[in-house]
Amino acid sequence: MKIEVIKGDITKLTVDAIVNAANTSLLGGGGVDGAIHKAGGYEILEECKKIRNKQGGCNVGDAVYTTGGKLHVKYVIHTVGPTWNNGRSKESTHLTRCYQNSLRIAVELKVRSIAFPNISTGIYRYPKAEAAIIAIETIKQHQPVHLQRIIFVCFDEDNFKIYYDYLNG
Ligand code: ADP
Repeated sequence: MKIEVIKGDITKLTVDAIVNAANTSLLGGGGVDGAIHKAGGYEILEECKKIRNKQGGCNVGDAVYTTGGKLHVKYVIHTVGPTWNNGRSKESTHLTRCYQNSLRIAVELKVRSIAFPNISTGIYRYPKAEAAIIAIETIKQHQPVHLQRIIFVCFDEDNFKIYYDYLNG
C-alpha cells in the first residue's frame, strides 16, 4: 500500500473513493463538504437524504457512503469529524473512528484507491499536527489488502507541510 500526500482540491481527483468531512445532518455545509456537494451534484445529496430518512443523519465518528455523482469517483464516504473542544470531548477517539470507519467501508466496497481530506482541521478547528498523526497512524495500522493507494489531500500549506514532514521525516 502506497501512502501519498498532495496539495490540492479533493473534488478534482480520479480515484475509487474520496472521503467527505461531513456534518451530522448529512445535508452539506461549508469547506470540503460544500465543495464535494457542489462538484458532485444533486445525486449525492439525494442519497444523503435517503440515508437520513432511514437512520436520522450520521453520528460523530461514524461513516456512510453514497455514489460519486458527477465526480470522477465511484463512491463518496461521508464521515463526521469531531469539533475541537480543547481535548475535553474525546475528540481524538472520535477522529480515530472517522478514519477506521471510512476504511471499513472502503474494504466493504473493495476500493483500491482512496483520498482523505484533513478531517476536522477546518471549521471544526482540530489542531492540525495532532490530527495528522491520528490520520497517518490509524491508516498505517489498518493496511487493508485491496487498498493500493491512500492519498492525503491537503488544501492548505500548513497541513501539506505537516503531512509531508511526518511521512518523509
Ligand atoms: P471540518 O468541519 O471537518 O473541519 P472543513 O471542510 O472545514 O471540515 O475542513 C477540513 C479540511 O478540508 C481543512 O483542512 C480544509 O482546508 C480542507 N478543505 C476545504 N476544501 C477542500 C477541498 N476542496 N479539497 C480538499 N480539502 C479541502
